[in-house]
Amino acid sequence: MSAAAPLSKRERLAIARHDMPVREALVRIGGFEEVNLGFTEQVALAEAQRCLQCRVAPCVAGCPVGVDIPAFLGRLEDGDLAGAADVLLGGNALPAVTGRVCPQESQCEARCVLARKGQSVAIGHLERYVADWAREHRASPASGSASSESARPQRAPSGRRVAIVGSGPGGLTAAGELAGLGHEVTVFEALHVPGGVLVYGIPEFRLPNEIVAGEVARLEGLGVRFALNAVIGRTYTLDDLRAGFDAVFVAVGAGLPVFLDIPGEGLKGVYSANEYLTRVNLMQAYAFPEADTPVLQGRRVVVVGGGNVAVDAVRTARRLGAHEAILAYRRTRAEMPARAEEIRHAEEEGIRFEMLVAPISVHGDADRWVTGLKCRRMALGEPDDSGRHRPVPVAGSEHIIPCDTVVAAIGTRANPLLTATCPDLELGPWGNVVTDARGMTSLPGVFAGGDIVRGSATVILAMGDGKRAAHAIDDYLGCAGYDGRHGHDGDDWQEGSGHER
Ligand code: FAD
Ligand code: SF4
Ligand code: SF4
Repeated sequence: MSAAAPLSKRERLAIARHDMPVREALVRIGGFEEVNLGFTEQVALAEAQRCLQCRVAPCVAGCPVGVDIPAFLGRLEDGDLAGAADVLLGGNALPAVTGRVCPQESQCEARCVLARKGQSVAIGHLERYVADWAREHRASPASGSASSESARPQRAPSGRRVAIVGSGPGGLTAAGELAGLGHEVTVFEALHVPGGVLVYGIPEFRLPNEIVAGEVARLEGLGVRFALNAVIGRTYTLDDLRAGFDAVFVAVGAGLPVFLDIPGEGLKGVYSANEYLTRVNLMQAYAFPEADTPVLQGRRVVVVGGGNVAVDAVRTARRLGAHEAILAYRRTRAEMPARAEEIRHAEEEGIRFEMLVAPISVHGDADRWVTGLKCRRMALGEPDDSGRHRPVPVAGSEHIIPCDTVVAAIGTRANPLLTATCPDLELGPWGNVVTDARGMTSLPGVFAGGDIVRGSATVILAMGDGKRAAHAIDDYLGCAGYDGRHGHDGDDWQEGSGHER
């Protein structure tokens, strides 16, 4: 514990924001190791001292799950790491994940008072520091593995059974909450590995898979069962689950890729980002033939899109050996929805940014292998519904970007695998599941949350839905007179929203 007198406001304001140490660009493009290396304890404590401990802290309102940021930073500054972890984990079940992937610059850090005249407190980096400390130093009584909620009391077994469909951040958070509330939880997952986008989408150089595996092990320690390779809508139906469980939480994400819909898209060498990233992240295609799954290791790769998925794909292409890894986006860098840090890291790694271009057709050779992507230049017009300037084509600006691989990363939408088998499940205009204010669908006892309700959104929003739904399910199981009113009607769903368009 620090015995020194508290710093004055002036002294706090005089401390400059600490940079995250990173693996050097030329070294990191040779592999998939994590780019950010993490703060040392000394740097973390010094960065925490920048917090002014605002009595009404606007940063908290910027966090979708309302983490008590000044409280965790105050304990961290005092060197009370266990106390800081307790505060953090009280509001956020996966801080080692969110500390790495939250778009902090548009959430908590955007609202920090220090951001008004300078640089915000590095809340995300400090969250990651405290979460990693907790993973390394805390043994979960249940699992013997690192605990993210060991301070939380467990309720006695309720005898009630809850099925969760999908093991992304929404499903995992709901599973942890429900197990803590004493319910018997089984998570059904279509893939052979749990974690959802956290393991098949987001590359290990941003979020190592072992962090998600640790969380899954902790949940197993709490008694959560994982039924893998179980596709609901095929292996079992939702009705099967309703018959065998007292409640169901559907968190199947929005993983169906949106394609470019241009001539030549069927040529050899064109991928959806979803397939490309899954081959590499989940199936370790970079190690082919030692791994079973191959991936084309293009020399000139063009990724179309401007969100996190596009930036992840183009940085992956670079790591697979592309001499030219090109990001083609129809707006400008200022409109790119990707996290600012990822864009900066991509630039450091030599990614070529082709801004204000839109694809028209994919070109190939006689054997149908890709040889180029024909694009048209765009200019920014009037703002559209999203408030961003609408890209408008520039006449006579067609040109070909030579390449051997094209990756489409322009968004995803709801996969109908589950929903198509449930005619009574109310869906919104984009095939999204419609829920009431507490997360219950049109089917009694069936709740839903995360991307399948919101459209492509964020990890922390899916987690918030999982937590809310878990408590609504607990209410539903405890009182027959559940009175959730229709509030969330899916109006805020936008096809491909959040990341790519
Ligand atoms: P998902 O994570 O999509 O998980 C759904 C799970 O359900 C999957 O495991 C799927 O296999 C399973 N499933 C689907 N259908 C069935 C079925 N019928 N039966 C059984 N299981 C099924 N967000 C951020 O906040 N920051 C980022 O930096 C960021 N980067 C991203 C990068 C990429 C490449 C992608 C694709 C997304 C990114 N996102 C990011 C978005 C974020 O990952 C999602 O918003 C979040 O994962 C949604 O969580 P979820 O629990 O709703 O669903
Ligand atoms: Fe910020 Fe995300 Fe942590 Fe909330 S969960 S405090 S938004 S980094
Ligand atoms: Fe600290 Fe910034 Fe939050 Fe104020 S707004 S409590 S300075 S992190």
